[in-house]
Amino acid sequence: MALDVNAKREMRAARLVQVGKPLEKADIPIPEIGPSDVLIRVAAAGICHSDAHYRAGISKIDRLPLTLGHEVAGRVEEVGGDVTHLSAGDRVCVHYLVSCGSCEFCLRGLEQFCRSGQMIGKHRDGGYAEFIQVPGANAFPLPDEIPFEVGAIMMCSSATVLHALNKARFEAGESIAIFGFGGLGFSALQLARAFDCGDVYVVEINPAKLASAANMGAIAIDARSADPVEQINEATAGRGVDVALELIGSARTMRQTVLCLGALGRAALVGLTAESMSIHPYTELINKEVEIIGVSDHLATEFPALIEFVRSGKLQFPPETLRVVDLDAVQINAALDALQDSIDHVRTVIVPWK
Ligand SMILES: [Zn+2]
Ligand SMILES: [Zn+2]
Repeated sequence: MALDVNAKREMRAARLVQVGKPLEKADIPIPEIGPSDVLIRVAAAGICHSDAHYRAGISKIDRLPLTLGHEVAGRVEEVGGDVTHLSAGDRVCVHYLVSCGSCEFCLRGLEQFCRSGQMIGKHRDGGYAEFIQVPGANAFPLPDEIPFEVGAIMMCSSATVLHALNKARFEAGESIAIFGFGGLGFSALQLARAFDCGDVYVVEINPAKLASAANMGAIAIDARSADPVEQINEATAGRGVDVALELIGSARTMRQTVLCLGALGRAALVGLTAESMSIHPYTELINKEVEIIGVSDHLATEFPALIEFVRSGKLQFPPETLRVVDLDAVQINAALDALQDSIDHVRTVIVPWK
């Protein structure tokens, strides 16, 4: 469906105008596209914890006003002349890191370190709008089997967890401990299965999350009842796990993530914290040749596998885990407020067009 050229080229958006204040509704021009860009009619935009941090000023935004939203799926509306892999009407999901494509990192497929990289919905306008303009290279075909809502949310937390498993060189048959069972953990458990993992331990303190992990077939480790490292050691007859993921962002659980590893184990740290972590190099690291690996974002090259895991049903987001709101500043602000203290797996997605 093409835009009516006679119609006023304006669209609705929900924008951050002032840090620390609610998002505001705005009518702004529909972005113009360059030869390497596509214009996407947004079908779904996920509301993420990072968005709450941008609004609150916890993560710094340097240009205002800004349309938030980095978890985006929709249909291609217009295609720049140089974009050959997409046509108008195609279903797509969006990689949120816009990179130059020509620096030393981009050339090696490591675009998260691009010197002039920009994050959609942080450094440039995002998907809390009727349309979004992105480089064609950032738009990935979304199979018909994947609903737009899922296509949007999988491009953030699920992609990052997949990157963590890849960074940890996670292999079929290996055991894994997942520290934290929020949105990241929910994807991590399913993706570990998709890799044909061995035993999965989920470490949590929240009873509802522990029950949910156990329901999904994990071995639930209640960190309130005893030291989780001791519990994992006991459960593995002193062997420890092959891989551990830290998805919480606390120095204490980061240390536990390292300590529960067996020989040659890999700890992938995803959660963010400003605290320091202490490790005894000889007994806790060198002796076992364990590795501590930092994980930041994810890569374009990882999306084909991620999309296939979702298409084939190995990674699922059941309808009860998704809630839909309109492109309405009041509803979006309420969803951002609720994110602050959410303990469930429910994700809220903006659907601009009814
Ligand atoms: Zn996100
Ligand atoms: Zn670059």
